Amino acid sequence: MPFQFDPEIQATWFHSPLEDFEEVSVETEVRRDPLTGRQSRIVSDNFVRPENEPDIDAIVGDSEGCFFCPEMVTDATPTYPDWVGFDRGSWGEATSFPNLNPYGDHSNVIVLTEDHYVPIEAFTDQQFTDGLAAALEFVDVALESDAADEYASINMNFLRPAGSSIIHPHMQTLVDECGTNRQAERAEAARAYREDEGESYWEALLEETVETDRHVGSTGDVEWIAPYAPKHHRHVRGIAPDATVPDPEDPVVEDFAAGIVNVLEYYASAGHNSFNLAVTLQDDDPANPPVIDIVARSVFDQYYWSDSPFFVTLHDENVVDVPPETYGEEAADWF
Ligand SMILES: [Zn+2]
Repeated sequence: MPFQFDPEIQATWFHSPLEDFEEVSVETEVRRDPLTGRQSRIVSDNFVRPENEPDIDAIVGDSEGCFFCPEMVTDATPTYPDWVGFDRGSWGEATSFPNLNPYGDHSNVIVLTEDHYVPIEAFTDQQFTDGLAAALEFVDVALESDAADEYASINMNFLRPAGSSIIHPHMQTLVDECGTNRQAERAEAARAYREDEGESYWEALLEETVETDRHVGSTGDVEWIAPYAPKHHRHVRGIAPDATVPDPEDPVVEDFAAGIVNVLEYYASAGHNSFNLAVTLQDDDPANPPVIDIVARSVFDQYYWSDSPFFVTLHDENVVDVPPETYGEEAADWF
């Protein structure tokens, strides 16, 4: 089924002090996600960037008392209950353990690196391969242990603008029966699409995107796109259309890791230093292959500007300034 990639253009007029009080018009694009109908607004010059190089060395360089640094992690973090089969997970530099502040049935933390701080452009494929493997090891055990659980996600907040209270790079896994609002909404819509259309939404979406400026590139079995209606700044999405919940050692894990590193290098080139990511996984669900969403956040600086105004916190409305056709082409240079 062809999707409607056809934004609504809204225009507003006023006498502008920037143009000697001549009448000017300014346009806003309102786009709808082809699967969920969720709106995104493309509003130019909406994103505030610091004028100078961010000054964060004093904050990111202070590892005093960090529970995730190698000398503390085995003393200061919890160990898994017996049914998991191991005390903590260990993959390369990555260490996994239960979340002291769990968000649901099964909730863990994966410390990604031995270094206390890693700049966004310095993460390696191996670090994300090991980190994702540690997360998937826990996902596998959790899904097996509880037949009712069908939703899993692997998530990351990087630096304070992204919501992380801890500088040390880490990911968080959540496995439960209900998923989050967005994950469940999207999974249900993709199941309905497959039932109605007789094909996978995600495969149809890739077919419609691969020849456009919004196709960012491929890493092995993962295709990367800039979504038509971005969720947040420079939103890049990776889809593994042929995969299910991968085993930790499945080669597709390396494919995801390689793409994450490419996207983060692109973000650094665009002046960003903070991001969120989420991998969504649905157990035994042919309509929903693994999907990863990565978004850039406010630039971390001493007095950084929140990029979650009322649109985000109260209206659940997505507002971005750079259209995906523009940043999708830019990001393609890193693939
Ligand atoms: Zn640390």
